[in-house]
Amino acid sequence: MLDAARMRLCPKCKSPTLAPFGAIRGGGDPDAIPPSRCEHCKGVWLPHEAIEAHLPPDASDSAISADPRADALPGFCPRCRGLLARARVESDHPFHLGRCPVCRGVWFDAGEWAAVASTEWLLHLDDLWDPVWRKRVRDHRAENRHLETVQHALGADAYAKVMAAIEALREHPNRSLGLSFIIEELRGP
Ligand SMILES: [Zn+2]
Ligand SMILES: [Zn+2]
Repeated sequence: MLDAARMRLCPKCKSPTLAPFGAIRGGGDPDAIPPSRCEHCKGVWLPHEAIEAHLPPDASDSAISADPRADALPGFCPRCRGLLARARVESDHPFHLGRCPVCRGVWFDAGEWAAVASTEWLLHLDDLWDPVWRKRVRDHRAENRHLETVQHALGADAYAKVMAAIEALREHPNRSLGLSFIIEELRGP
C-alpha cells in the first residue's frame, strides 16, 4: 500500500524531500509526521503536538529569508493530503502560514518559522485561524496605534498629565462634572 506519510512529500515542492529533524516523537501513531524540514525549499512542517509545545526555531531557520513566491503557493498536508488553510501573519513583511484543517499541523515556508518567533503569535499559533481571536488582536492594535498618535501629538509630558486626569475621573462619582469643567476651562477665545 502506498503510504503517503512515509513518503513525506513537501507541501510546496511536491517532492519527497521532507526530512525529520530534532527529537523524533515516538507516540503510538504510525502515521504521525515528526517536525520535518524540506531539504529542497527549507520550509518546515510542525505536527500539532509541536505547535502545542511551542517548539522554538533554531538559528538555521533565522538565517533564511522568506520567499514571497513560496508564500503564494497553495500547500497540501504531508499527512492528510488536504489543502492547507492559510492565515495571514501581520508584521513588517506580512506572510501566510498554512494549517491542515484535519490534523492541525502547520507549514512554514523558509524563514517564516523564525519570523513568527519574533511576533506574539508563536505562543498561540492556533489562534491565527480563529476569527474571534484575530479580531481581538486587531482591535487591540488599533487602540494602541490611536494612543501612540495622541502621545506623539501631545508630547510625552502633556500626554502623561492628560492620562492622569482621565484616570482621576474615570471612576469618580462626579465624572461628568469634571469633564465639563475641563471643557469649560479649555474653551475660550
Ligand atoms: Zn519543499
Ligand atoms: Zn493533516
